[in-house]
Amino acid sequence: MLTVEEARERVLARFQPLESEEAPLSAALGRTLAADALAHTSSPPFDNSAMDGYALRSADTQMATAEAPVRLRLVGEVQAGNVYAGVVQAGEAVRILTGAPLPAGADAALQQELTEVADGWVTFSAPVAPGTNIRYTGSDVRPGALLVHAGVELGPAEIALLASLGVAPARVTRRPRVAILATGDELVAPGEPLAPGKIYNSNTPYLVAAVTRAGAEPIALGVAPDREEELRALLQQAQTGFDLILTSGGVSVGDYDLVKQLLSEQGEVEFWRVRIRPGKPLAFGSLGGVPLLGLPGNPVSAAVTFELFGRPAIRRMLGAAQVERPLVEVTLEGAEQRRTDRRQFVRVRLASRAGRLIARATGEQDSHLISSLQGATALLVVPEGEGVIRSGELAQALLLNDALPWDE
Ligand code: AMP
Ligand code: MG
Repeated sequence: MLTVEEARERVLARFQPLESEEAPLSAALGRTLAADALAHTSSPPFDNSAMDGYALRSADTQMATAEAPVRLRLVGEVQAGNVYAGVVQAGEAVRILTGAPLPAGADAALQQELTEVADGWVTFSAPVAPGTNIRYTGSDVRPGALLVHAGVELGPAEIALLASLGVAPARVTRRPRVAILATGDELVAPGEPLAPGKIYNSNTPYLVAAVTRAGAEPIALGVAPDREEELRALLQQAQTGFDLILTSGGVSVGDYDLVKQLLSEQGEVEFWRVRIRPGKPLAFGSLGGVPLLGLPGNPVSAAVTFELFGRPAIRRMLGAAQVERPLVEVTLEGAEQRRTDRRQFVRVRLASRAGRLIARATGEQDSHLISSLQGATALLVVPEGEGVIRSGELAQALLLNDALPWDE
């Protein structure tokens, strides 16, 4: 049986970054940049004023004191979006508004609160240093600068930076198309009445949501009953136009575990068991050339194995700089965690206390308990081996959310 690392390596080896496409900035949130974005111009593109006030020549102001104020003749005005046509001469000032280009000849802007204006003269009582209140060309970004690295997921700040340099549309990696298929005679769609012996299909909604959040486009193909022909037909559909097939259920050793069977008959099985809990029966292979990840049916097992194998595969296809979730050091609090021959991933909730992260299990860990998945912000990693991790001891945890937890 493979270790988690071996299995993950084999999965990731099957995926490469997909081709790129253009996305308007208005639709670029959450997309992954396909190539380094470079600045072709400067930002700001010209020297401009940071204040409402008066553009002047600093040399003219050096003698100003409270006892002997200096006055300059007001010769014009420039607003943001316009350009002052003339050149400011000795003894002159130009009314300037925030964001307006600094007129030729001037080298500083005196904020209006420090002045008095009357009869076409502006008067002040202290010298103005050269460069005062000037935002220089390129002081934010210079031409040729790297704005955003390839592989970065675009957030509002990245989008603003690209926009400020006029970089649009963004060149992003195509979203992987992921087919999602559940298996099981017992499954009923949420919202429908539940007949005896049936349960609601929670894996499909989970996977649609998790695949979307991972940056891919989910397409739910439906539920295959535990009959070979119907599963075969649905899997047939998944073989064209998809970059990844995710199934849930039907991969353990029960009589109706058809996914694994079909995969071995009609495709290729790369592996079908991993030393992990939850999630030991996890199949990976390909069908009609499309990689297929056969997740276990138990909802928590499906969720955890998607996180550990499915999400990294999607992130690899996106060319994401960071394929894995961040691993952080935490202090376990509460019941001790016994190590076994399988790596365990325990649903925990993190809290920040005095600069340290505290991890507490969200509840019982059986793999049908979706209630303990909800509220989990991390997966505590219990390495293979012997002994226990006790309350108060350090361990590692995979962050499930991008945000760090609040202080307690
Ligand atoms: P299986 O791997 O098909 O034997 O399923 C293992 C367990 O997961 C069984 O209790 C199934 O009823 C349950 N299960 C399978 N698929 C789903 C699903 N889509 N939603 C919720 N539970 C499921
Ligand atoms: Mg089943």
